[in-house]
Amino acid sequence: MSSISRNLQAVNERIAAMARAVSRHADEVRLLAVSKTFGADAVIEAADAGQHAFGENYLQEALDKMDAVKAKRPELLLEWHFIGPIQSNKTRPIAEHFDWVHSVDREKIAQRLSDQRPAHLPPLNICLQVNISGEATKSGVSPSDLVDIAQRIAALPRLRLRGLMAIPEPAADSHAQREPHRQLRILRDSLRARGMDLDTLSMGMSSDLDAAIAEGATIVRIGTAIFGQRDYAK
Ligand SMILES: *Cc1c(COP(=O)(O)O)cnc(C)c1O
Repeated sequence: MSSISRNLQAVNERIAAMARAVSRHADEVRLLAVSKTFGADAVIEAADAGQHAFGENYLQEALDKMDAVKAKRPELLLEWHFIGPIQSNKTRPIAEHFDWVHSVDREKIAQRLSDQRPAHLPPLNICLQVNISGEATKSGVSPSDLVDIAQRIAALPRLRLRGLMAIPEPAADSHAQREPHRQLRILRDSLRARGMDLDTLSMGMSSDLDAAIAEGATIVRIGTAIFGQRDYAK
């Protein structure tokens, strides 16, 4: 068994164990394998081990990888999620090549993605990135603007607003890790209370997976624990 498939199995077992520990069903938590900086072969290895959804941060790298995977294994039907910062002049290829975008943080970006989503594809699944207190990247919608922006994005015809995403600052212990995840869940619940049909909380990475699942994550975005340490110099 390759190390990627062994790691995937361990991550899936950890997700299932944590879900059970907080009385959730393991199938309420989807694993997004974050493959940034790793090549097509790593994606194919994970796909052969049963992984279906992949997350990418850098557009050109992602497009090259999709082509390389398709060339080597045309029968693989994978789901691609864009999770990185979005420049407004790069929205068209995102709208054309991805199934989900987790990192929408401006109405202008959402408008462009909706305008540019090809008619033959289903609506693009969207998470709004929220800047909960101290978010490491400093990007994201501020909680006070969230209701307004979410309502306008939910009305765009070629998008389907699925929920919220956050990248909390690293925290020392699991208690401190839970707080920002709890805040994101409360924000999602407040949008639901206004009648918005949101089923997704995209939160939890390799280092705070357990805290995120305890607070209701429905998609966890895991890179290092599956593929190993990233080497940005490559
Ligand atoms: C890189 C990245 C991840 C994966 O992080 P790991 O710590 O390697 O699991 C998840 N989400 C986002 C937005 C990322 O940029």
